[in-house]
Amino acid sequence: METFDHIVIGGGVLGLSIAYHLVRDSQDSVLVLERNELASAASSKAAGLILQATAKPLNTALAKLTLDTIAALETELDETIGFHAVGSLRIASSPVRSTELQAMERDAAEHGIPSYRLSPEDLCRKAPWLDSSTACHTTFFPSDGYVDPYSFSTAYGRAARKLGVQIRPRTAVTGLIIHSDRVEGVCTASGDVFGGTVIDAAGAWASLISAHAGYLLQMTPTRSHYWITATDPSYGGDFPITLLPDAQAYMRPETGAMLIGVQEATSVTFDARELPDDISTFSATGGEEHWEVIAEAMQDISVYFPAVAKAKFAHYVSGLSGYTPDGLVLLGAVPGPSGFFTAAGCCGNGIALSAGIGSAISALVRGEEPGFDVAAFAPDRFGSVDPFSAEFRERCAAARASKSQSAHQSM
Ligand SMILES: Cc1cc2nc3c(=O)[nH]c(=O)nc-3n(C[C@H](O)[C@H](O)[C@H](O)COP(=O)(O)OP(=O)(O)OC[C@H]3O[C@@H](n4cnc5c(N)ncnc54)[C@H](O)[C@@H]3O)c2cc1C
Repeated sequence: METFDHIVIGGGVLGLSIAYHLVRDSQDSVLVLERNELASAASSKAAGLILQATAKPLNTALAKLTLDTIAALETELDETIGFHAVGSLRIASSPVRSTELQAMERDAAEHGIPSYRLSPEDLCRKAPWLDSSTACHTTFFPSDGYVDPYSFSTAYGRAARKLGVQIRPRTAVTGLIIHSDRVEGVCTASGDVFGGTVIDAAGAWASLISAHAGYLLQMTPTRSHYWITATDPSYGGDFPITLLPDAQAYMRPETGAMLIGVQEATSVTFDARELPDDISTFSATGGEEHWEVIAEAMQDISVYFPAVAKAKFAHYVSGLSGYTPDGLVLLGAVPGPSGFFTAAGCCGNGIALSAGIGSAISALVRGEEPGFDVAAFAPDRFGSVDPFSAEFRERCAAARASKSQSAHQSM
């Protein structure tokens, strides 16, 4: 009978971060089971932004830890993970966004994260393509940046393996073993495996795993996407991540080109029960022509980036992120049988929050206090809802649409 102290389901950035933190923080044995290849689902699609102070102050400490952890992993593995410390530029063109930006500056200061206003000359030097004439407030956060998401996700895996974690790709979990109201292991095609605790980090499919324990996680797989222009020296330099909440868009450099992400007003959601086992066979465009989304966003973006009208688009990347109605992760014990935990529904922040989430789960499953206040992330905080209902999916889509704004936090 094969037995581990902890079994992690899912080999994306969260499963691998959890495994790394568990083995780093204890002498426990850890097994990761991944149905496909490591980081082959949402984690390899991400734009890789690591923003610390955002419209969700509860996330700040988690993201800050991720930056520290990248440095630690580079030392442990003696390799470069590919973090681009370009900083982030936040631009507000309306009083409401300016107020939010002031709150982010205060939050950053409380966490020891630097931020400062830029002179028009500095702004022009940092982002020569930017027209900031409508801006009423711009702030630069120099310690933010972006990372190659595949390299980073698998770095957690390489470091975890070095410390003794067993990682098995191409091994699907098909059920949970439950005895005396406790989850005691998992079923796979190659046999049952027993674990002291089981952690559901199955991304968009996490609810299908938790259903085996009689509970549906309260999140909805929601489309996230971005476009990458062809290389162009007029805007393809090493500029900061640029967030334009009034235009519901962001940009970052991408090897001589520009990556542009858009949060459309009506986000597309999916029913987890209808997703294929392998996301590489799935199109998240929902049958819609994705060029229409960028065409619609173009007018708002062109206020800040006039050259967008002439930009050639070379790539489109889309994938699924789990969203919750309040835009916060589901993290902690799953209601129902004991010994069963989850980290899912990261609302498009899983790369940025990965170390904070991994560290918190590592503490919780071992009965220790996490270094963060995780009460607001409780998996059952939305009460009794049907996460597959149209009404719930609409609430999650609204959270995605207003991700860069704090207003929906009270929804
Ligand atoms: C287009 C796009 C852009 C994004 N940009 C950013 C960004 O800039 N910054 C940021 O922080 N986040 C970003 N995100 C979000 C981020 O990618 C996710 O939050 C994060 O990758 C979630 O990680 P995960 O490990 O939960 O999920 P995943 O990476 O999806 O991993 C879950 C894994 O579980 C496996 N699995 C499922 N069922 C089973 C089973 N039964 N048995 C075994 N394994 C199973 C799957 O095969 C999968 O590999 C973006 C997402 C998208 C789609």
